[in-house]
This record gives sequence, structure tokens and C-alpha cells, in this order.
Amino acid sequence: MLDYHVHSEFSVDCRVPMAESCRAAMAAGVTEIAFTDHVDHEPADPGYGYYRAEAYLRSVEQIQAEFAGQLTVLAGAEVDFNLGIADQVERFLGQYTFDFVIGSVHYAGGVLIFPEYFRGRTLDDVFRPYYAQVLAAVETGWFDTIGHLDLPKRYAPATHRSYDPLAYRDALEPIFAALIQQRMSFEINTSGLRQTPKTSMPGPAIVRWYVEAGGRLITTGTDSHAAQTVGAGIPQTLDMLELCGIDSVSAFKGRERRQISIDDLRGAARAPA
Ligand SMILES: [Zn+2]
Ligand SMILES: [Zn+2]
Repeated sequence: MLDYHVHSEFSVDCRVPMAESCRAAMAAGVTEIAFTDHVDHEPADPGYGYYRAEAYLRSVEQIQAEFAGQLTVLAGAEVDFNLGIADQVERFLGQYTFDFVIGSVHYAGGVLIFPEYFRGRTLDDVFRPYYAQVLAAVETGWFDTIGHLDLPKRYAPATHRSYDPLAYRDALEPIFAALIQQRMSFEINTSGLRQTPKTSMPGPAIVRWYVEAGGRLITTGTDSHAAQTVGAGIPQTLDMLELCGIDSVSAFKGRERRQISIDDLRGAARAPA
């Protein structure tokens, strides 16, 4: 199984050393882990100026050597994107080399999508500008996958839990078309399964519409900020993907994509270490 969204101590909101997550990954049947620490260019963000690319890349190299032959470890990044910081993001991506890059929208209209953001706003006020930024992220072609495609549902307070992706299908279809044209994925972010939404980001409805649109490229990640959640929810996600008509998951090395069949991923997870 592939856990392609794991944070480490190079993220402002995480204290877990990489080695600890690698041991947890192996115990959970994960065969490949990508450390995707936050890269924040939004000046108001708590993570602004926190990320240290050289130190991060050195740390991944050490971990790759330590776990060689046991676990594939990828140098990844979760790069925050919105049109207001596009120039800085482009410059950053031109500067450093990763195996795998997630593009994630965390801000809409210049404001962090967090529970307080919903106050005084309707679901439309939140999701429409958010999906517009996601579309812009896809259209850049800069990323391998899009993080937590329907993120605002993670933070929706009790007053805003009626989110139904069907209401945004008109905003999602252009995103699917752009993803397919760019040969970009979106991820199934399993953190929603263990958080308030109790469903992955996105859930099966969106995956099914994407498949109907002709899309097949999916990545899987737990968005772990703690070692005990590495690999969590990935087996259920593989079942869900199959039910939606997806039979393989994308893996990366040096930004090159290859597809691994879900049968093989399940077999590798069961095989003794
Ligand atoms: Zn994120
Ligand atoms: Zn994350």
C-alpha cells in the first residue's frame, strides 16, 4: 500500500521524526511512504518561512539509506497553492527536486479555510471560491496530485454539515477535465475517515463522477501528523476505489508516474516483511 501524504518535523504542525513514521508504515503494511511537508508561501500562514528544503532533502536521504530494502521512501512536498502566491510557488518548484508533489489549496479569498472561516458564510461562499482555486491549481500543471479535493468539509462546523458534493458537480466537472488534460491525479485523503466528516476527501461520489469523465489517476495518502495514523484507512480506500471502477493507484519516483494494480498493492501489504 502507498501512503503518499505524511508529515514530519519539517512541518510546522508536526513533531514526528521520519524514522518513527517509517516503522509505523512497515507495521501497517505500507510499502511506499512519501514525506509531504507543508510548503507555505502565504505570509499570514503559521508555516510561512518554516520549511527548510535543504535540511528536509538531507533528512530524507538519511532515512532512505536507513530503510533501504525495507521501505521505499520518497521526497515529497505538500505545496500550498492559490493564485495570489502562484509566482512564489513556481519559483520554489523550479528550485528543488522532489519525487512527488501535492498541490493543496488551504486558502480561499485570502483567508485560511478553518472553522472560523464558515462564520457568516454559506456553503456556497466557502466551496465556490475554494473549487475555483483548485481548478487554477490543476491548470498550472505543476503538481502530481491535488490534496484533499473537498477540504472545506473537514472544517465545516455543525451549522454547515449539509455539504453534498452533488451541489458542486458543475464546479467539479471542469476540474476533472483539466486533471485529465494535465495527466494529474487527485488523492484520496483518508484523514476525513478518522475526523468529523467520517468519509475520505473526496468520498466515493466524486470518484465515480471522475471515472465517468474518463479519469483513472488516483493517489492515496493519510495526511498523517502522528505515527499511529500512517497507513490508516488505505485498505478501505482500495476497496472504495475498486467499487468506483478504479483498478490501480499512481506511484511516483522523480516525478515519473507508474500505475500499480490494487491487487498487487493488497498482495504486497499481506506479504511477510
Ligand atoms: Zn493540506
Ligand atoms: Zn497534509
